[in-house]
Amino acid sequence: MVRNSFLLLMFLLLLADYFFLDLSLWAYLALTLLYILLVVAGSSSMSLNFFTRSYTSGKGNTIALTFDDGPSAEHTPAVLEVLEKWGATATFFCIGERMARNKELVQMIKGKGHRIGNHSYTHSNLFSIFGKKRVVEEIQRTNALIRELTGEECSLFRPPYGVLNPNIAGAAKACRMQVIGWNIRSFDTSTKDHQKVVERVLARIGPGAVLLLHDDRENTPKILDAILAHTSQQHYRYIQAHELITK
Ligand SMILES: [Zn+2]
Repeated sequence: MVRNSFLLLMFLLLLADYFFLDLSLWAYLALTLLYILLVVAGSSSMSLNFFTRSYTSGKGNTIALTFDDGPSAEHTPAVLEVLEKWGATATFFCIGERMARNKELVQMIKGKGHRIGNHSYTHSNLFSIFGKKRVVEEIQRTNALIRELTGEECSLFRPPYGVLNPNIAGAAKACRMQVIGWNIRSFDTSTKDHQKVVERVLARIGPGAVLLLHDDRENTPKILDAILAHTSQQHYRYIQAHELITK
């Protein structure tokens, strides 16, 4: 919406300039630079809702626990055990390729009452420069696998690296996916000291939190256990990603 209005403004300015005004080249360069900055900011921050709507927070006394990049044969079972210990439910944004290698694990996640979301098929490093057609293929291939393994139609998409540029947003829309972001990033993939991750999360957690964790990491079960030990005393309700979607 913002993007289209901005392009329209540029076009009108160009027209006006042709007929009446005499804007300098610098004015156009400044406007173009502003547009590029807006696109970069819009692509990297899902909560700005720049290219498409995304859901990044919950309502009321709820916490949405989300796990990206699994399933991992090595670490996901321990994450499931911790969730079970505290009676918490979560959403796992799985990578297609990893589901194909861990089919029983996907069924185990689903069997324990959690929800499976789509986190692309390859999670390629180049995902943010893929064209729309390629992203659509990634989403559809992953959805087909989720359908095969769980019998469920998946409409929840979390773009790799949280990047939501025009191609990725367009592909998500074309596949009728709801884009799910987060409002608390744990930095569990880049922080070695698990205690620091716990402190970071606990300093930020509150009603409506959507927490981003990764279930393919050795420290995740420990981190999750410490977080849930804390939040379970505060009577939060743990919700799944589809409950974040509002009209
Ligand atoms: Zn990821």
